[in-house]
Amino acid sequence: MQKGLFLLLGVLACSTSPESESSGEHWTWVSCRQAHSSGTLDPADRAHCTTKYSAPAPTQRYGLHWVFLGHDEETVATYPETQMTDLNAVFEDNNMSFFIHSRVRIVHPVAVEGATGETMHSVTDLIGDMRQYLATDETDPQTVLDLMLARLTALGVTSAGVSKNGEKGVGLQPTELTLDSQWRAADLHGRVARLNNRLITVVVRQAQGEKSWGHFPREGYTDPTAGLIYLASVTPLSALPHETGHYFGLPHTHGFWKRKPGATQSWQSGSLGGFDETDWDALKAVAGPDYSGTFHDTYVAFDQSEADVSAFEQAQFLARRVLGWTELTYLEGFQPVASDAEFVALVRAGTPPLMKNFVRESEPGSFTGNNCGKSYTGSDQTTLRCKYGDDGEDPLHVLYGQDAILLGTLLFADSTEANLMSYISTDTSDGIRRKKHMTQRQRDLIRLGSRMPSRLRLQNYDLLD
Ligand SMILES: [Zn+2]
Repeated sequence: MQKGLFLLLGVLACSTSPESESSGEHWTWVSCRQAHSSGTLDPADRAHCTTKYSAPAPTQRYGLHWVFLGHDEETVATYPETQMTDLNAVFEDNNMSFFIHSRVRIVHPVAVEGATGETMHSVTDLIGDMRQYLATDETDPQTVLDLMLARLTALGVTSAGVSKNGEKGVGLQPTELTLDSQWRAADLHGRVARLNNRLITVVVRQAQGEKSWGHFPREGYTDPTAGLIYLASVTPLSALPHETGHYFGLPHTHGFWKRKPGATQSWQSGSLGGFDETDWDALKAVAGPDYSGTFHDTYVAFDQSEADVSAFEQAQFLARRVLGWTELTYLEGFQPVASDAEFVALVRAGTPPLMKNFVRESEPGSFTGNNCGKSYTGSDQTTLRCKYGDDGEDPLHVLYGQDAILLGTLLFADSTEANLMSYISTDTSDGIRRKKHMTQRQRDLIRLGSRMPSRLRLQNYDLLD
């Protein structure tokens, strides 16, 4: 077994080399900040960092690092190319673009679960995977682990902790790491993402039917693990654009996924439990006193204080919970919520508005999981509609995308297309993506999320000279 893996490594090493632009030794916001903080930034480099990382870049171009867990060579060689057009189309209006930077095929992987996998493996059992991720010929388990730790340390990993605000890091992070330490798959994959921290790591699994996953931006950038995107399987219309939305800080349009009898339409104020006045003040500082900021100029320069960085992170954690919901909620009588300021006032007063796309209990027909679904009248499998109230076979309200309250926020294109961050199942029989739209406010939130330090560690290839 060990020998077999060893022989395959020659091939794997070739497949990990960059395919287009070289990442080289270019500066990122994080590498500028790390050098600044340690006092090792010489004047020439400081001038470069000041030019690049004192204000937001007008456009962003990111490289994807694809990891395939046990797929055949043909899939590895062709699948990423099938996903890029959709991804780039969805994010074009944010001036964001993506390209395939590199790909790696892990042969006989042991760590195959996704973000929520609970199976524990000893680090010893993961050495075969680790050798492939590191593209090393070393075979001694301790040497392989030491190599991974050395590479992580070289990238500025210092913290073994879990971040504040309940924004837990990826996986478990034991302070004393040995070959006997127990890891979940995500502990390994999070470290792989950290090792490739200038790129967005996309781990492709072979778990059809399971959920894909995208981690939100976290606090800090020195943890041993970094957020990543999991795709459950290689489907033509993958969840990649949706998970990329999460990766840059967008929540779902339906709030928390919790089915219960008589599922409430109220926006769930419980999500504000951990926040206090300092968080609201931090949010006002970046979004303005009425929370209407668009974040075009919001940025923390690479050489600003730790307090400035912390306050910004604090603001983003709260922003992604409360902003963007104004258009996705309504008042009694299907009246619109006027502004983010009104939305915040309502949720802080404990009288939240109602969600346009709330989670309802499964029921016969097309409304499975949330209140918006494909039409079940006649043979129409393309029209979308949302159901409000609950009166058995005779719903109180069924609204279509032409309805002013849904048009352009949750449903689009004459009620045939849907919001990217919804679970609304659109017609996909012709292989065309229809769950692809964002509101302007959601795009504002992506802009804000992309400026989190944990995302500024990515190389913006549009900034390379
Ligand atoms: Zn999701």
